[in-house]
Amino acid sequence: MTGCVFNIQKFSIHDGPGIRTTVFLKGCPLRCLWCHNPEGLSREREIEYEPTKCILCGACGGVCENHAFSEESGHLYARESCTRCGRCLERCVAGALKFVGNDMTVEQVMKKVLSDKIFYETSGGGMTVSGGEPFYQHEFTTELLKAAKAEGLHTAVETSGFCRTEIILAALPCIDLFLFDYKATGDELHRKLTGVPQAPILDNLRAVSDAGGKIVLRCPIIPGANDTEEHFAAIAALAEEISGIEHVDLEPYHPLGTGKAEKIGKVQEFVSKIPEKDRMEEIRSYIAGCTSKPVKIS
Ligand code: SF4
Ligand code: SF4
Repeated sequence: MTGCVFNIQKFSIHDGPGIRTTVFLKGCPLRCLWCHNPEGLSREREIEYEPTKCILCGACGGVCENHAFSEESGHLYARESCTRCGRCLERCVAGALKFVGNDMTVEQVMKKVLSDKIFYETSGGGMTVSGGEPFYQHEFTTELLKAAKAEGLHTAVETSGFCRTEIILAALPCIDLFLFDYKATGDELHRKLTGVPQAPILDNLRAVSDAGGKIVLRCPIIPGANDTEEHFAAIAALAEEISGIEHVDLEPYHPLGTGKAEKIGKVQEFVSKIPEKDRMEEIRSYIAGCTSKPVKIS
């Protein structure tokens, strides 16, 4: 079995306890306006073109049978003509063209993950599966988690929680920690900001907790989208209600998704601003005042 992997991030310290390797899988059913990893949205392999690296050598145009490149005004890449055959990538010595997403077996991923086992053992770390949405490729994700557990690794998944409940519960015995997103309060706003309804996510959050899953509730703070008192109160209420939630992580918005989207020919129109440190502390303190669970800024 293979999964489409778009990044394997070593020495990650923000995706669960200790030093970790985070495996990013392609494919996500959500369309969050501020998506920090737009290269993980499509399940398909894509091609990234970085104009700042391009030396205008013309080698790509020389091998493309579909005439996807033109040098009439600088360098144009017509993605609609591209079949992603990869011929041009082999010719691009400047590294301006590269695939986003490679089909890998569980064994291939585990080989990379296990090469840092010593660091997991000394730091209490392990492997985190992220994306995209890890359960979009649920069979691969579950097999990967099983393989990691068989090696004695601590495992975590970074999930939107938007998938069929039976899928998430089937994987639960191999997951030591859920990094579970909570993005907006109220179905109408949730649909507007993420493109999907909220109810299945809340159902899964409760199902994971009821089944004994350990959860960190991860809450992106997006000025102009979800930074309301109503939302902060709902975060605290959820933390109080759901016993599996161990703590709340607040994640300030950053605009990195905009540049990443451009490289794969997409446009991220939504723009917010990075919240000031004082504002984040104000939000943290407000939520912490309404729940007994720890509230942290990541
Ligand atoms: S991947 Fe293939 S079809 Fe696409 S631009 Fe490169 S050579 Fe042309
Ligand atoms: S082969 Fe690479 S460096 Fe040369 S023109 Fe094409 S994208 Fe630019």
